[in-house]
Amino acid sequence: MQQPQVIVVGAGPVGLVTALGLARRGVTVTVLEREQDVVRSPRAMVYHNGVLPGLADLGILDDVDAAGFRATELAFWDHANRDAVRFDLGVFAGHEPYSYNVHLGQDRLADVALAHLREGGSAEVVFDARVADIAQNADGVSVSAFVNGHLRTYRADYIVGTDGASSTVRTAAGLGFDGMTWPERFIATNIRYDLASLGYADSTLVVDPVMGGVIARIDESDLWRVTYHEDSALPIETVASRIAAFFAELLPAGATYELAQFSPYTMHQRSATRYRAGRLLLAGDAAHVTNPIGGLGLTGGLFDSYILAEALAAVLAGTVGDEILDEYSRRRRDAFLEYGSPRATAFKNLVFNTTDRAEVDKTLGGLRAAVADPEAARQALYVSQPYRTPSLLGDAALSASDN
Ligand SMILES: Cc1cc2nc3c(=O)[nH]c(=O)nc-3n(C[C@H](O)[C@H](O)[C@H](O)COP(=O)(O)OP(=O)(O)OC[C@H]3O[C@@H](n4cnc5c(N)ncnc54)[C@H](O)[C@@H]3O)c2cc1C
Repeated sequence: MQQPQVIVVGAGPVGLVTALGLARRGVTVTVLEREQDVVRSPRAMVYHNGVLPGLADLGILDDVDAAGFRATELAFWDHANRDAVRFDLGVFAGHEPYSYNVHLGQDRLADVALAHLREGGSAEVVFDARVADIAQNADGVSVSAFVNGHLRTYRADYIVGTDGASSTVRTAAGLGFDGMTWPERFIATNIRYDLASLGYADSTLVVDPVMGGVIARIDESDLWRVTYHEDSALPIETVASRIAAFFAELLPAGATYELAQFSPYTMHQRSATRYRAGRLLLAGDAAHVTNPIGGLGLTGGLFDSYILAEALAAVLAGTVGDEILDEYSRRRRDAFLEYGSPRATAFKNLVFNTTDRAEVDKTLGGLRAAVADPEAARQALYVSQPYRTPSLLGDAALSASDN
């Protein structure tokens, strides 16, 4: 393949969706991924209804929908009282394009994007290609990568770093990653058990200082994601030995379940100081990381991707100046700091950091009252929409930023 216009570093969901957004607009792209395949560890799986229009614009929503599970409920589960406040996403009908969320492992979303990229012909995806170094000058960028163990140099006009929280691109750009790391560890498990029979909704936030976490149905075969927390001072090597004790408390006495997969994670709230340094751009976890409660991590990355691909393609086509990329950086960083991060922190506080029972009762009481009022219910369920940044190519968006 000839020299690409853009190199995307990292074939996670944000990298592949960004590459597809560029390729759909006629940009030649090379994606470099250090692993041999898409990473399969259990991470994001809830796509809020607000991100679905962007997947439809890319032409992949039908495949995502077919591979995934349509979730129509969101519940807050009060573990102490074994009682749920249940919302029906049907309240979005007539107000939003989609009145359901899609549940699908992020590796499967990446698979769908990869299949479409390979059909298109203007993108190349190289696995076993670990990016080690990056340089830029006025004419372009160069990337040194170990491909199948051999050092290779790639050149392009721009680099998009979607290489996750420990981003090599961000480090090469000399950008800081300010914020904090939480004292709790998150444990994501995939288990097979009929959790609906215990009252759990398709998507359930479990509210409790000890048992707090997230439970979400993955598919019709009763595969569920159960995510809970523990003190990160406990040894990480012995996580597996503590899983049974958690499920002994969650499930009825003597219940048997299949543990299909599990993985521990450290949680942070951090953002890069800027999402652009010259010809280097950041998106997804390379730009910002949040605790995953509320499902705003990949959501934020997809919202980055939608407007970045569009703006960068326009810059490369010469229809807009490159200052639009600074606008991308400013808008998406503000969106994370002013909405994504505080909203995810509020979800985390409710789910397992509130020991004041009166405060929990007040919050759950407010949510219970909202269920009965469709407008209040919609407001409670608008989780992803406030995180979206509209197209930067619209006149309104550009002139608003001048004010
Ligand atoms: C338990 C858990 C549950 C979550 N649930 C949700 C959810 O329901 N909804 C949601 O929105 N978010 C959720 N998140 C957050 C979500 O997983 C992340 O936001 C998401 O993975 C970010 O995608 P990404 O493509 O930016 O980065 P990543 O998925 O981290 O992908 C980065 C890729 O870059 C590659 N890479 C790294 N370094 C290099 C290099 N030097 N050279 C080449 N390749 C490199 C990596 O191998 C990887 O493939 C969850 C997170 C966790 C931990």
